Amino acid sequence: MSGRILVVDDILANRRLLQAKLEARYFEVILASNGPDALVAAAEHAPDVILLDVMMPGMDGYEVCQRLKANPQTAHIPVVMVTALSQQESRLQGLRAGADDFITKPFDDFGLLTRISALLRYHSVAKELRQREASGGPAIFDADIDADAMDRPSRVVVVDESVHRARRLSDYLRRAGHVTASLQDAGDQTEGRGIDVLVLALDQQGFDPLRLCAQFKMGERTRAVAILLICNEINQDKALKALELGASDIIMEPVDREELLARVLTQTRRTRYIEILRRRVDRGIELSVIDPLTGLYNRRHMMSQLSQLMGRSVVDAAPVSIAAFDIDHFKSVNDTHGHEVGDDVLCQFADRLRENVRPMDIVCRQGGEEFLVIMPGIPGDLACMAAERIRCAVAATPFGIGEGKPTLDVTVSAGVATNEGQLTGDPQILLRQADDALYAAKKSGRNRVMSLAA
Ligand code: GH3
Ligand code: MG
Ligand code: MG
Repeated sequence: MSGRILVVDDILANRRLLQAKLEARYFEVILASNGPDALVAAAEHAPDVILLDVMMPGMDGYEVCQRLKANPQTAHIPVVMVTALSQQESRLQGLRAGADDFITKPFDDFGLLTRISALLRYHSVAKELRQREASGGPAIFDADIDADAMDRPSRVVVVDESVHRARRLSDYLRRAGHVTASLQDAGDQTEGRGIDVLVLALDQQGFDPLRLCAQFKMGERTRAVAILLICNEINQDKALKALELGASDIIMEPVDREELLARVLTQTRRTRYIEILRRRVDRGIELSVIDPLTGLYNRRHMMSQLSQLMGRSVVDAAPVSIAAFDIDHFKSVNDTHGHEVGDDVLCQFADRLRENVRPMDIVCRQGGEEFLVIMPGIPGDLACMAAERIRCAVAATPFGIGEGKPTLDVTVSAGVATNEGQLTGDPQILLRQADDALYAAKKSGRNRVMSLAA
């Protein structure tokens, strides 16, 4: 994966070294030698990753990181803190300042490039989800993300044949407040269950850890779990394969306690952030097709479904029927009982529609007190019977409008139209035919179903 990387370091030799390593891998490199320059460069060049030295005179790395994360323009850019081996505690401090990852000097090329690739992948997934969210409706800002939920203890599974090491790592995690779980829990999606991170040792004899990686990334319920690989100098090739399969980070043997905790924390945050974005996108899609008052499909979804079904109807000569419903004298419900009761009647009417259609029918609110049921595969005579069943279900039982109040008689008129597959596939024509039939039903006394063909 290519990308643009901003390298921030006060020492020229360090900048040059990183620049050479990164350019050799075809990354585009931008350099800054102090905090203020870094802030300007980040806003100006929108890098995909920032490598940020902690120890700098004047504004240090933590402060630069905090400022980057406080600015909406740069907040989404992953920041990797660069610390010296002797500054272990500064890793956690960096993560607290909002950094997304850390690497340790002197650089080991494998670790450096692995982390950058993983961050670029994460950054591009997050970016795409944010864009989709923004195009689906008003964007929600990251400030809305529940920080407590992000930093709630992780649920972690340690998979390691070395019982001794597995126990030691699990101990570290539990003592830091995380929850260790078993592999069986991984597929569990009950609220509060499921896992955030799989810590997987690559030096296994009894089974193939790559297969487990693949299984996790293919399973619907385990796909989102972050996989943190424990590897050593010898099995780096295996680690690269695992990363290709979707593992997200590595930690070298012997496993350092602080590093393990810090990596579990960053991986958990990333998994949860992506999960939150994904849910928001799903919700956005849902909001864009659902009528908020009744929960039925809205007009937009109605039109797109009708177009698709009519297109198919022309191809395979299967009929598509629609029934347009309009509540009779609805204005007087509002005038007599108020708008709120009117809304309630609309919701009850929607329920009666839902209860009286087949599962494959698509029930929509066109707007106001006008509804439409799309009946795929149903010819005109059966569609008229279905509409008649709905009309009866409305007229037969009065609507309740609240405790201690009299019930309300409601009736509805309907117009049915059918495309038998031989007509043009234009939904507007079909809708007009249904409207004309509905108008005829109103004119001839209401509380009835008409179809122009019949
Ligand atoms: P008809 O039998 O000819 O259909 O008479 P009608 O009174 O039902 O028809 P008309 O189109 O004159 O009035 C529809 C009314 O529906 C007017 C409008 O205020 C009301 N209305 C539209 N949308 C809503 C809504 O979301 N909530 C409520 N409570 N009323 C709505
Ligand atoms: Mg109307
Ligand atoms: Mg009406």
